[in-house]
Amino acid sequence: MEHIIIIGSGMAGLTAGALLAEKGKKVTILEKNWLPGGCSSSYPRKHYVFESGATTLVGLDEKMPLRYVLDKTGIKIPAEKLTIPMKVYLKNGTEITRYHEIEAWIEEAEKIFGVKNQRPFWEKCFDISKAVWEISLQQTTFPPSSLGDLWGLVKNFRPFQLLYARYAFMSVQQLLEKYDLHQNADFMAFVNEQLLITAQNAAAEVNMLFGATALCYTNFGNYYVPGGLLNMVQPFVDYIAQKGGETKLRTEVQKVVPQENGYLVQTPSETYHCDKVLFAIPINDALEMFDNEVVRSKFQKKLLSSEQLNGAFTMGAVFHRQTDFECIHHQIHLEKTLLYTGSHSIFVSTSRANDLLRCNANEIVINISTHVPNPAHTIIEDKSLVEAEIFDILEKRELFYRKDLIFHHSSTPKSWKKWTSRKWGFVGGYPQYMHIKPWQMIDARLDSKGAFICGDSTYPGQGIPGVALSGIVAVEKMNL
Ligand SMILES: Cc1cc2nc3c(=O)[nH]c(=O)nc-3n(C[C@H](O)[C@H](O)[C@H](O)COP(=O)(O)OP(=O)(O)OC[C@H]3O[C@@H](n4cnc5c(N)ncnc54)[C@H](O)[C@@H]3O)c2cc1C
Repeated sequence: MEHIIIIGSGMAGLTAGALLAEKGKKVTILEKNWLPGGCSSSYPRKHYVFESGATTLVGLDEKMPLRYVLDKTGIKIPAEKLTIPMKVYLKNGTEITRYHEIEAWIEEAEKIFGVKNQRPFWEKCFDISKAVWEISLQQTTFPPSSLGDLWGLVKNFRPFQLLYARYAFMSVQQLLEKYDLHQNADFMAFVNEQLLITAQNAAAEVNMLFGATALCYTNFGNYYVPGGLLNMVQPFVDYIAQKGGETKLRTEVQKVVPQENGYLVQTPSETYHCDKVLFAIPINDALEMFDNEVVRSKFQKKLLSSEQLNGAFTMGAVFHRQTDFECIHHQIHLEKTLLYTGSHSIFVSTSRANDLLRCNANEIVINISTHVPNPAHTIIEDKSLVEAEIFDILEKRELFYRKDLIFHHSSTPKSWKKWTSRKWGFVGGYPQYMHIKPWQMIDARLDSKGAFICGDSTYPGQGIPGVALSGIVAVEKMNL
């Protein structure tokens, strides 16, 4: 039986692992951490459960990547659909509800930002975003790097796909200009901060294909997993085990050496032989451990530097519950930028009121995150000063008060480096850049034999559904 080793148990590696196990392959996932899931997982601390990174979850609707994997494997995850996906608070205090239904959302956008051209802008974005998800699952050998891939593209070609190709050349900024929305300062701030959390970059750098999916993130089904995202991850681990595979925790891969016949994967205590290897970690880290000079020099020019990437400052806190929030995700725009990070917004997610797996009934767990640009060089000298600013912001927005605080802790890119081993502690994936067209993204095929890569440096900036898609693409390209 063909043996495939996957390095990393984030949602990219787990998606690929589940699909390979379903195909009857022997799957071994090697994970350096003591918990699976990487940036989309949960961890216990002081009897509370915090999310490690991701807090919002989409991708479970028809024609979306997680739905595809769940349908294919029969894996079930305990996801609850949210009625209101998100609230956004502008600098001036205006509260915006990001309704799930597109009509309700357009009405809200017109109310807040004025009627001029909001409708055509959002209708265009919604139309593109639906098409992008649909095409992504049709064209799973994209970008092509073999004859087999090309054949896959031709076989799955549908004429309507051509209609959307032109949006790869247009930035969100250009569409905003087309609709004369670029001079509306409040709207531009709204768009840029929303793009940052989904596409990891601002309007001028994000092409319309990715920008539309990023901006319409809340118009797809948004879900909550009781007990935390570890309960989305664990069913994948269990499924792989049921099929005879294994996820080995606390097993850090140090080197991968190509052989005549397969690969040697070295950890401090053991060396494994496999037929194929899938790096489910960022390309920056993969190249450092892959002992293949040809592959290194081929991909070197595609690596993004720390200056082009982001880390994160994250904070977990528990409060005495004073109110039941109708919405659990809040993006708060800041009146002044945050210390050290220069952030213009923070993102706050809470546990649901009835989620007793994460805290007691009279308590609420919250996760807060914000981007840290250039993680190799942005030093957060005193975490407590950032925490204090964040508590001030929460009080000002009347969300949470220090008097109700039970416990809190925070993490910087250094902690992320320790938790996930990602170079410089960069997270959120490769940001969108206009000079990188979709067909120039990092290919899942690293060499012509059996080394592949997936994860958020290959399908940039769309979080969990993006990395699930990258896992699907890697498996498809294995031609099994
Ligand atoms: C603060 C924050 C907030 C986010 N918010 C959202 C959100 O709300 N919604 C959303 O969809 N996405 C969000 N994201 C993005 C999303 O979480 C990630 O893009 C996605 O989870 C990355 O998955 P991955 O499998 O590519 O990589 P990772 O999750 O990084 O997984 C890689 C795994 O490989 C392991 N590993 C690394 N090196 C080795 C090695 N040498 N040997 C063995 N194992 C190794 C790591 O420990 C890790 O478990 C957020 C990310 C962060 C950090």
